[in-house]
Amino acid sequence: MTATYYVLTEGYISPGVASTVSLVVDGERKIVIDPGMVASRVNILAPLEKQGVSPADVTDVVVSHLHIDHTINIAIFPNATVHDFMASYKNDSWVDHEESPFQLSTNVSLHATPGHTREDITTVVNTADGIVAFTHLWWTKKGPIEDPYSYDLGELRASRKLILNMNPSVIVPGHGSPFAFDGDSSKLL
Ligand SMILES: [Zn+2]
Repeated sequence: MTATYYVLTEGYISPGVASTVSLVVDGERKIVIDPGMVASRVNILAPLEKQGVSPADVTDVVVSHLHIDHTINIAIFPNATVHDFMASYKNDSWVDHEESPFQLSTNVSLHATPGHTREDITTVVNTADGIVAFTHLWWTKKGPIEDPYSYDLGELRASRKLILNMNPSVIVPGHGSPFAFDGDSSKLL
């Protein structure tokens, strides 16, 4: 069995700032990615409920990196284990990841993809339609191609190549709508 995914709310960068927030269901695991800034929490909770998932049902939260616009709503999921680039956290338990990629569940793995920040990860999900990559390596399909906040554009480019070489069918960017990857990486590097 592969995993399924739902984009709960699509992010944007102007006016205002909102994170793209997603749900991945992999067997018993219900994983929310980047529960960050949104105009209202309802924009996360209502679409989640529509999928038949209550906040208490969420088993895992993944944050693509540590900026507040992708993390501010972590605590609305009381039972979730939280995962970032280096460890998994629940209550007072802190378990470091041994290596990248970190296998979160059967069809979900977390890959170190530094570039936007040093602490960026991409969530790679095996679905029936191929690989879906949830990542802040792109803000939206349209760019900006040169991330103005990147600490190192060379690292960003290398991480983008790493993900594109997996030939994802869909990329879910940090602040925009999901987009299909047609195999032509030239416009995305
Ligand atoms: Zn962001």
